[in-house]
Amino acid sequence: IDDPQTIGDIVRHQGRTLANDIAFEFAGDEMSFAELDRRSNRAANALASLGVGKGDRIAYLGKNSHLYFEILSGAAKLGAVMTPVNWRLARPEVAYVLNDSQAKVLFVGPGFAELVSDIEGSLEHVARVFGAEGEEGPFPSYPEWRDTFSEDDPMVPCVVEDDAIQLYTSGTTGHPKGAILTHGSIFSSRMNEVDDSELKDWQRKIEGEVALLAMPCFHISGTGFGLGTMFNGTRAVVLPEYDPTQALDLIENYNISKMFMVPAAIQILLNHPRIGEVDFSNLKYISYGASPIPLELMKQAMDVLGCGFVQMYGMTETSGTIVALDPEDHVPEGSPKMRSVGKPLRDVEIKIIDDDGEEVPAGTIGEIATRSPKNMKGYWNRPEATEETIDADGWLRTGDAGYLDEDGYLYIQDRVKDMIISGGENVYPAEVENALYAHPKVADVAVIGIPSDKWGEEVKACIVIKEGEELSEAEVIAHAREHIAGYKCPKSVDFIDALPRNPSGKILRKDLRAPYWEGKEKAVN
Ligand code: ATP
Ligand code: MG
Repeated sequence: IDDPQTIGDIVRHQGRTLANDIAFEFAGDEMSFAELDRRSNRAANALASLGVGKGDRIAYLGKNSHLYFEILSGAAKLGAVMTPVNWRLARPEVAYVLNDSQAKVLFVGPGFAELVSDIEGSLEHVARVFGAEGEEGPFPSYPEWRDTFSEDDPMVPCVVEDDAIQLYTSGTTGHPKGAILTHGSIFSSRMNEVDDSELKDWQRKIEGEVALLAMPCFHISGTGFGLGTMFNGTRAVVLPEYDPTQALDLIENYNISKMFMVPAAIQILLNHPRIGEVDFSNLKYISYGASPIPLELMKQAMDVLGCGFVQMYGMTETSGTIVALDPEDHVPEGSPKMRSVGKPLRDVEIKIIDDDGEEVPAGTIGEIATRSPKNMKGYWNRPEATEETIDADGWLRTGDAGYLDEDGYLYIQDRVKDMIISGGENVYPAEVENALYAHPKVADVAVIGIPSDKWGEEVKACIVIKEGEELSEAEVIAHAREHIAGYKCPKSVDFIDALPRNPSGKILRKDLRAPYWEGKEKAVN
């Protein structure tokens, strides 16, 4: 395994070369790379004893744990496919994902046994359930079970084209869809096969670095980050779920050098009462992405945290990041690039296409399409959706609207489905949200299009006011008029207590839109 190409290979390789270095650390429990290799062999042998083999799906429903990566690695050594399930979903949604994935074996994390017992009767494919971290309700303990199997490598031949992980999309725009990521797509997203001189500083392993995995593993941000540290040979401290107090403690006492956060998590961190007292001097890089970040928030983060920032743009369907904005381009006052998501990674092609799928020149807005080895194989059991998304030449439509500048930097406007057409003009909610977020009394904001007899659609802002402040509709509209073109300004404002968000912190605009569109059809949907 001088030239590892699959997840199994990389685990074997690190197990030999890094042996006693810590791979994952979870609640004080340290797992070395050698141990990850041995335990994943046992996991593979255990799964094989149940008849799990190449192409079979297994599922994990639970908060983050080092055992998730162990089980994933064990499955990968058999050519079986890990499907992490979003534990924030409601019971019928969990059942939907488990049935859709056809997972045969389910690992359930602490606190979710009751949920699984409740839906067990409706699970069509799950034959066995184990408590991931120990006996859980009526379900036997995975660690005890796996320890009864041999630690010899099952040696099942695996190739880069084999399915490795099936990740469900966030369901921001509709039903979550199972994106099939192969070993090849996962592998090309990690950095270690690249000649070191081609790596940027933030991609390189820093001597002695410790990474903090704080985003959920049912999302590409968590799973991708954890695989990244595995592939890099970096020690990762795993948080069961994002918690700003714990994150701050770890940053300070554990010398965390790298972490990934979604913008909503950064916002929560910055609002923490202890934020002013924490020493951030060991923190080198925070990467962030998954939803647009308001410029004001980024400025504040740079000011308070003082580390390097890397913006990442990508999606489940592209195994994560495909475009990144380097720390050097994070110059809020001086660099216009700051509003972009950066440039495509080394092996990624990006083009902007019009409604007919034709490429448009720099500066023109259209749908972002991408081609790279990182693209998914397709959506699980959804040939039509796959065909609509990936064309015969391998170009994948992202569903995001944006443009490229002359220097090849990519600017995201918003999701194609969220675009508002008002009086024939296109309005991208993210731009309006950005302008409104800059108002000192606005805590949170979402912009949607609602039906209008006069304009087709008109812009509405849904605003959460900062605690103890007062704000009127007229003030909001006046503020908008100072910053953006008239047709983009909200015609009305709803003041609400909190925005509906999914677990990745993405604003669920479809939920805000729904009451206004009942019985009507939105043009761009
Ligand atoms: P679904 O596809 O089920 O509606 P989703 O698109 O939110 O859900 P993900 O794959 O988790 O599911 O998210 C990818 C999307 O997140 C991208 O298509 C883009 O809209 C958004 N996104 C990712 N990174 C960024 C970024 N840096 N800036 C702005 N938006 C981003
Ligand atoms: Mg999507």
